Amino acid sequence: MSSSPRVGLVVVSHSPALAAAAVALASEMVASDPPSIAIAAGTPEGETGTDAARIAEAIGEAEEGAGVVVLMDLGSAVMSAELALEFLDPDAAQSVRLVAAPFVEGLMAAAVRAAGGASLDEVVAEARAALSPKSQHLGAGEPEAAPDDAPAGGSTEAAPADALAGPPPAVADVIVRNVGGLHARPAAVIAGAVAAFDAAVTLSVPGKAPASAASPIGIAILIATAGTAVRIAASGRQAAEAVKSVRALIEEGFGEELVDAGGAPHEPPPSTRELRVVGQPLGVSSGRVVGPVVVMTHDVIEPDGGARIAPEERTAARDRLRRAMLQVARTMHAQADRLGGQRREVLEATAAIAADPALHAAAEAHVRDEGLTPERAVWIELGRTAAQYREAGGRFAERATDIIDVRDRIIAALTGVEPPGVPEREHPFILVADDLAPADTVGLDPARCLAIVTEQGGPTSHTAILARELGLPAVVGAAGVTALAEGTVLLVDGDTGEIIEQPTEEQRATATGVVTLPPWQGPARTADGHRVILGANVGAPRDTRRAVERGAEGVGLFRTEFCFLDRQSEPGIDDQVAAYREVFAAFPGQKVIVRTLDAGSDKPLPFLTADDEPNPALGVRGFRTARRDGAVLDNQLLAIARAADAESAEVQVMAPMIATVQEAEDFVQRARAAGIPSVGVMIETPSAAMVADELMRVVDFVSIGTNDLSQYTMAADRQSGELAALADPWQPALLRMIRLIGEAGERTATPVGICGESAADPALAPVLVGLGVTSLSMSARAVTAVGTALSALPLSRCRDAAAAACAALDPARARAAAAAVLAG
Ligand code: PEP
Ligand code: MG
Repeated sequence: MSSSPRVGLVVVSHSPALAAAAVALASEMVASDPPSIAIAAGTPEGETGTDAARIAEAIGEAEEGAGVVVLMDLGSAVMSAELALEFLDPDAAQSVRLVAAPFVEGLMAAAVRAAGGASLDEVVAEARAALSPKSQHLGAGEPEAAPDDAPAGGSTEAAPADALAGPPPAVADVIVRNVGGLHARPAAVIAGAVAAFDAAVTLSVPGKAPASAASPIGIAILIATAGTAVRIAASGRQAAEAVKSVRALIEEGFGEELVDAGGAPHEPPPSTRELRVVGQPLGVSSGRVVGPVVVMTHDVIEPDGGARIAPEERTAARDRLRRAMLQVARTMHAQADRLGGQRREVLEATAAIAADPALHAAAEAHVRDEGLTPERAVWIELGRTAAQYREAGGRFAERATDIIDVRDRIIAALTGVEPPGVPEREHPFILVADDLAPADTVGLDPARCLAIVTEQGGPTSHTAILARELGLPAVVGAAGVTALAEGTVLLVDGDTGEIIEQPTEEQRATATGVVTLPPWQGPARTADGHRVILGANVGAPRDTRRAVERGAEGVGLFRTEFCFLDRQSEPGIDDQVAAYREVFAAFPGQKVIVRTLDAGSDKPLPFLTADDEPNPALGVRGFRTARRDGAVLDNQLLAIARAADAESAEVQVMAPMIATVQEAEDFVQRARAAGIPSVGVMIETPSAAMVADELMRVVDFVSIGTNDLSQYTMAADRQSGELAALADPWQPALLRMIRLIGEAGERTATPVGICGESAADPALAPVLVGLGVTSLSMSARAVTAVGTALSALPLSRCRDAAAAACAALDPARARAAAAAVLAG
């Protein structure tokens, strides 16, 4: 959803039923992100007619700041709309257009364009032109013959085939290939895609009625699991394009793991066969912590099923219902806009449920036909949908919580109560819930929340995804856990799924990831006293608080490019000094290794990198950008030196993506010229590893970026899910590469750090130390676990484990060999 204002629409009709039906139809075109549409239909007395005061009010409701298009049905509707303009403030009236467009087609066309963020004039033009496909199809400029007057065969059939402007309906069959099937997120993606086409698109599966492809819920309820044959059908001007687009989306699998499309098409997919055992807790996000419980309940009270609304009040009630649903969708979209990664995706998929046109129509029908309250209508419809999801099992069942969350939020909006969310507490706590919906976690402060335990959910549920993204230990499927009293102390293990109520002191001491009850205190050493520095990886000043709390000894990698990813032009020196000082100030007297801008490849900076490189990972990235524009590097070094002068941190600087000794020399010379005494380079390329001895003669330290060193050693894109096994940091080839560097460090007495993700793995850290690495830098949350692992082992054991892992033939055997040695 766009966060900038969009053109709003007002539908003026003599008949509330006609207006509601037209809006429902138009909303199907823009399911994922509808524009504001307000209805002004009928008289205040509930009679057929129009009312200028209501139209003026509706204009105010629809206005977001980009203007309003008013579509009218006939006769006095036009006059009432003109009169309504008189009621408005003259400035406000300036941005309102009464459009002589066909009522239904015009509304649909305007809704699609407004949803896409078009300007007021563009929306007006689209609405006005909306009749042309129909008139061209039936013969442009010809007076329309009444069917009875038509010659044999009728005027449509008499038209030559090539005169028909509207294309024929399009159809395609496709097999669902992604392991999760067309669950909520893919459904939202499809609905979002079809909104861009001028076409009515349906999806169908054998034995079920077709669902509008504009309706995420309609699609999800088809329960199209992996292997299901889906028919895509479309009509309208862009039918063929729409079908092609939906087909491509389904075939590509929405970025999920794919299953063999040639398999038995109606077999349940692997995901549904792997249903979790009810009552068997499952660890889904690593970490072992202890803390007091806070139970989150969704306290929405079931709305009264006996209440009835008088017929004359039903139109207003339906308006209220529609507005509440759209308001919830907008709020969730706005929250999603503030997030990144998978949290954003899942929240957007949930927002699409609240905006689902089929759901709106079904809920409104309860109000219109039975006189139910809007909140009761929502309770029934979304409750039914959640039940269908649960019945479908597997991933669908895991997403039922999202539906219930949307239900409760809409009801909260309608009844004016607090929407559901995570309770606020001043102390760290373990959050216990039936299940967590994406929106619940928006306000979740990872510094306060130690872990998440839910009754529902499985390894692919949103709770699991979000917990992993937030770096919180999580256990799902813990039936009965919400019965615990607030404050009960729990030990939670996100690896094994173990949950212990009121753990003993001995059991508490086995926890590894608690801020408030640390079992390990730095500085890090092996059991026989060999010192290893554990630093934090920091991408922005806000990351420093956690690093300090977790006991990191300074910063082993400050990714400066993360401070400036949104800049179109080079940040000024003063801006840079301010950003760097914020980080340095958090670590007085401690080491902070600043990496100069690592722009390019997966982290483009518009002011420094080209966007047309055929192979950016092998292109001008990192230190190589200085070949084109050395001034940016020199300015940055100057800013780092100034910030270092102003603070007491012991600042060091290093360059990313170094491939030759000559590059290292060049960097050292520039850094020293800027006044920085301690200068190093990252070893991220096999070439740098091969000349490690020579590199170490020109620098003060090296830091191995195992993320990239693995990518370049294995020739496997670090972003490719398909090649993830090659990118495993336990690959013996990578371990041997690190060994080369560690040995060079020992020969030349040069500190060798690791700041790639591998440093955060408590099982791998002892192996890395055994390979000669002297410091490890990682995300703050891993510090305790790594420190604990090292403190239990003598250096000789780390060395033996390193030798065993390097000698193995593959990552699994490397892990097993190291674990066997480390176990003693
Ligand atoms: C690395 O490559 O391991 C590294 C630490 O750098 P980045 O992940 O920022 O490329
Ligand atoms: Mg790197």
